[in-house]
Amino acid sequence: MIINKAANPIRVGVLGFGGLGQAAARILAAKQEMSLVTVADHHGYVYQPQGINIDTAISTYHERQSVGYLAEGGVLSSNSIQDVLENGVVDGYFLALPNLPNTFMADVARQFIQSGWKGVLVDALKRTSAVEQLLELQTALQEAGITYLTGCGATPGLLTAAAAVAAQSYAEIHSVKITFGVGIANWEAYRATIREDIAHMPGYDVEQARAMSDQEVAALLDKTNGVISLENMEHADDIMLELAGICDRDRVTVGGVVDTRNPKKPLSTNVQVTGRTFEGKISTHTFTLGDETSMAANVCGPAFGYLKAGVALNSRGITGLFTAAEIMPQFVK
Ligand code: NAD
Repeated sequence: MIINKAANPIRVGVLGFGGLGQAAARILAAKQEMSLVTVADHHGYVYQPQGINIDTAISTYHERQSVGYLAEGGVLSSNSIQDVLENGVVDGYFLALPNLPNTFMADVARQFIQSGWKGVLVDALKRTSAVEQLLELQTALQEAGITYLTGCGATPGLLTAAAAVAAQSYAEIHSVKITFGVGIANWEAYRATIREDIAHMPGYDVEQARAMSDQEVAALLDKTNGVISLENMEHADDIMLELAGICDRDRVTVGGVVDTRNPKKPLSTNVQVTGRTFEGKISTHTFTLGDETSMAANVCGPAFGYLKAGVALNSRGITGLFTAAEIMPQFVK
């Protein structure tokens, strides 16, 4: 199916072309208002100002592990993010990159600031400490003319934003409880996501998970029958809801179950927001995602909704760092 693009589509770049990056590209293929013009992975990049052929990009990546091998516009590079920054004309990027080490995304943000590029950046960061590093770049982002929206995946992201809306019924918020269920057919499709989840398991940290070989990850998953169960995770939903003035971060809890051997969700992803109304009633709003929606749909859909909102802000001269809990995503046609 060929979708005709709008007259001046938003020119989008996707950095990182693993599980989420490829899903993001597939989503863009069906959008009129956005055109995917550049993709970068660890070993190269592709830039095609008229729009990338997404099927070819995905099959090339699967066959040769880099879009740099694409005949049209592909370049092999060990410095692909910097190369894309220097060579592409792009309005906004979705950073579908692993945050390994935990400082990686903040380093990428600094790279953008130093390059003099102006535009919109969106990430799907997960850890509180990673968002805290970006907060330190608030002024630098503002001065650079960059509108950076952080935590714009599913959790943090869609569910955090839903909590911020749900909170409006209450005079006081007692708790926000996020429980996610993720089902994927095989862990290799989302290596960074799974490594970052392992980093939350008792006895593991980010550096250990990052250093694990694929064989070690597979051996660990063999022991757990492919299932990772997590509770009380360090998740940026807490700092995002605190910054948005909804509640203190210690009232926000995040946990979930990831099945790496079955695309069916092990449980329904939901957020429960409990509070007291102005009449003194205690109640709970629950927002549950449809079980048929995949992690990729719930991360990449919101990411582009926030990217569109970011472009609107940026064109009005509004720059700096925002979270998914303080901006309403727009719908991308
Ligand atoms: P992945 O491992 O499948 O793919 C990572 C991609 O990044 C690969 O294409 C790799 O080549 C590329 N890459 C790595 N280092 C690079 C570099 N220095 N320069 C350019 N490209 C580089 O990753 P994934 O499973 O799709 O996850 C991506 C991120 O999304 C993770 O950080 C994960 O935590 C996050 N995520 C967020 C949510 C959410 O709801 N907020 C949900 C799932 C995943």
